[in-house]
Amino acid sequence: MASCRWCGSGHGETVLDLGLQPACDDFPRPGDPPAPVHPLRLWACDGCGLAQLPDRSPVPQEPRAVEPAALSAHARDSVAWALSQGLLVAGTSAREFGSPHGGSWVELLAAAGLEVRQDDGAGPVDAVIDVFGLMHEEDQRAGLGHRVECLTTDGVLVLVFPPLETVVELGQWNALRHGHHAYPSTAVAARQLAECGLTVVASVLHPLYGGTRLLAARRSSAVAPRAVSVPLPGDVPRAALTALAESVAAGVAALRAHLQQAAAEGRRVIGYGAASRAVPLLVGAGIGPELLPAVADASPAKQGRLIPGVGLPVVGPDELVAARADEVLLFLPDLLDEVRSALPEVEHSGACWRSVETLMPTRAECPPRPTSTPAS
Ligand SMILES: [Zn+2]
Repeated sequence: MASCRWCGSGHGETVLDLGLQPACDDFPRPGDPPAPVHPLRLWACDGCGLAQLPDRSPVPQEPRAVEPAALSAHARDSVAWALSQGLLVAGTSAREFGSPHGGSWVELLAAAGLEVRQDDGAGPVDAVIDVFGLMHEEDQRAGLGHRVECLTTDGVLVLVFPPLETVVELGQWNALRHGHHAYPSTAVAARQLAECGLTVVASVLHPLYGGTRLLAARRSSAVAPRAVSVPLPGDVPRAALTALAESVAAGVAALRAHLQQAAAEGRRVIGYGAASRAVPLLVGAGIGPELLPAVADASPAKQGRLIPGVGLPVVGPDELVAARADEVLLFLPDLLDEVRSALPEVEHSGACWRSVETLMPTRAECPPRPTSTPAS
């Protein structure tokens, strides 16, 4: 029986069920036993609307990824924006709640003249920054509450997260992963902040991951009534989550059909980006080495290992170039510019880069069918 990570309600429904999936950050070595699998499903709370993982996640492994340039660019853009809006001010104090995925603002904050304090004993700070951190908290209410406690009376809390409306709009069902316990929409996040006594004072959507939300909020007692009115998107309707679930089958079928057609035509396809979001896609489509002989990745810690669940070998960029593929299928669309400039040899040898996103049916192509329900 699920119990909401925000409001504690036991009432809700499973809206997306990916079945049993290996931990997406547990890359086995050749010869290791098969990776253990765990339920991976999205549950929407009837009480507060928060979409979340209702099941316990496996213990996360050490992060092994190389920080994408797109994530560093997002941090630079966001800090510059927050400074221009007067949300961050030189000479004031700040603390970051980061994530295992990188994209830290700490160095940028220090360079902008803020005093960065990173421990609980340092007292309240003028700015609390959370970059993809909160989603990793099993107890969402306690996690947000702790961040609010770290604020001075007139401090600002900055939350950066992938909002549910982007996941739904772009059909990013494979963004679901163990350890990311909560998937708030912007509207749900704003309500959670209000329940903690905060008012949203600024918001911006950045193009990272197709639309990454930044919300800035202050204690309502420090905000003059009606002084601010920040336009925010409305709630994500439950029917949109049903449509997201229905796009899973279409997405994995499209990937499989593309690779089968390439194999039939004798075109060699190699993957790029042994990322967490590639795992449910490859597992769901049942892609073995006969259809995708390898997935390249820049992280030396992943090279020589296998994609969990399907056993595809992870190779380095050098091996990708040497493989002289006809097509390199990119599992992380945000990396396209970076890998094209880092690996010009791929295109020089006649191969093309293709983002896996271009194979996925768009939302318009997968209209919701109101009579069906997601598998559970
Ligand atoms: Zn709830």
